[in-house]
Amino acid sequence: MAAHMTPEEFRRYGRQVVDWIADYQERIEKYPVLSQARPGEVLASLPVHPPEQGEGYENVLADLERIVMPGITHWQHPSFFAYFPANASGPAILGDLLSAGLGVQGMLWATSPACTELETRMADWTAELLGLPAKFRSDGPGGGVIEDSASSAALVAILAALERASGGRAGRDGLTGRHTLYVSSQTHSSLEKAAKITGIGTARVRTVDVDPATLAMDPAHLDALIAEDAAAGLVPTLVCATVGTTSTTAIDPVAAVGEVCRRHGVWLHVDAAYAGVAAVCPELRWLNDGLAEYADSYATNPHKWLLTNFDCNLLWVADRGPLTGALSILPEYLRNRATESGEVIDYRDWQIPLGRRFRALKLWSVIRWYGAEGLREHIRTGVALAQRLAGWIRDEPGFVLFDHHPLSLVCFRPAWDGLPEDEADAATLRLMERLNASGDLYLTHTKAGGRVLLRMAIGAPATREEHVRSAWRRIVEEARAIEREAAAR
Ligand SMILES: *Cc1c(COP(=O)(O)O)cnc(C)c1O
Repeated sequence: MAAHMTPEEFRRYGRQVVDWIADYQERIEKYPVLSQARPGEVLASLPVHPPEQGEGYENVLADLERIVMPGITHWQHPSFFAYFPANASGPAILGDLLSAGLGVQGMLWATSPACTELETRMADWTAELLGLPAKFRSDGPGGGVIEDSASSAALVAILAALERASGGRAGRDGLTGRHTLYVSSQTHSSLEKAAKITGIGTARVRTVDVDPATLAMDPAHLDALIAEDAAAGLVPTLVCATVGTTSTTAIDPVAAVGEVCRRHGVWLHVDAAYAGVAAVCPELRWLNDGLAEYADSYATNPHKWLLTNFDCNLLWVADRGPLTGALSILPEYLRNRATESGEVIDYRDWQIPLGRRFRALKLWSVIRWYGAEGLREHIRTGVALAQRLAGWIRDEPGFVLFDHHPLSLVCFRPAWDGLPEDEADAATLRLMERLNASGDLYLTHTKAGGRVLLRMAIGAPATREEHVRSAWRRIVEEARAIEREAAAR
């Protein structure tokens, strides 16, 4: 007979787990930022076969220390500057725990009205916090939904765009090989993946030119590509503009791109996965330029820079009709009076899977704990630290700063004077590998203008100026060491 954990046992172990997490937060700086585990090392520490008999939970906690922790890269470490941040925070962790505790599966309004209605309110709250246009509010034809990721949001937006462009036929008759998508070389790879998933096909994804300096999409080239495809009898279906690209936080000119979309009747999806949440600060509201007039859908990730544990993406649409048209199916076993009344939202019709977690709880916890003021302060801290770092890089002889750094990502490289470009790029990568292997900090790279750049993304809640400063000192030190070694050879 299964021995379920009793509430009393849960209380005991639960306290241990919460204590463990709090201890982790206190000692996080003692770990090397990047896990030093070699491939297969964690796997080799795990028994090959599952246990026949159950065991005490203390064994799991002990193995967490022994087996799991060496294989952890510490995303919440104050010296984590890789990719983009994936913020966790106390209130978000507690919100997620409550969600697990309730164990709700929120596929329909009827399967827990609070799961749906809290989510609706959180989408509206967040739209207000970010100063998003009224058309995204849920009391009109549009509305917002929490998806698992910006990738899903893009996929869902494409399905809605296909529904609209085909007058509802795409979902019924399948695609005819004529629908086209428009991205730039800087657009997130999830769009290409979505082209594969939807059956549009990567061969029908057009790559719009970018401005060589800012890496922003060129609306005139977009216009030409769409016109060419339309003339050839194709169906231009969706343009993805990005506000804050993954590589360098380039900002596509949403209004100019939107103007082109409107003229050709093409769906405009705006991907602001990382940068969008920064609009919580009024001085950064320029991030929203063009949304009110032109965006059909807009997505941003509170799970990156807005203190809400992964996963939490917000997707808003100006008109929910094409979205639910594309995704709604009502089998007999899900029929219920609330759905049939048309008075409620069933978010299963706004996403790919049927089932859904109660993610609104963690967003609610975060927004109430920090308030708009606290959220703004968090974003401003990240932006200010990044601008300070950019200043140090600019002032350091032998380093090249990438000019565009409006938010909290800064890209740069050592100049490596005298080295040919390919050797210089190899040296930049070697520098990154040595820094990351040291465990002192973690940063990643990109390529822009044909050159390898290091990316430092600031935004972990624990990051303070001293962490950025000592990371920068380590980078300069290590670059000088590589230069000396090269000179000695
Ligand atoms: C991070 C990122 C994504 C992907 O986000 P997920 O939520 O992990 O799918 C998409 N677009 C941009 C611009 C990003 O920076």
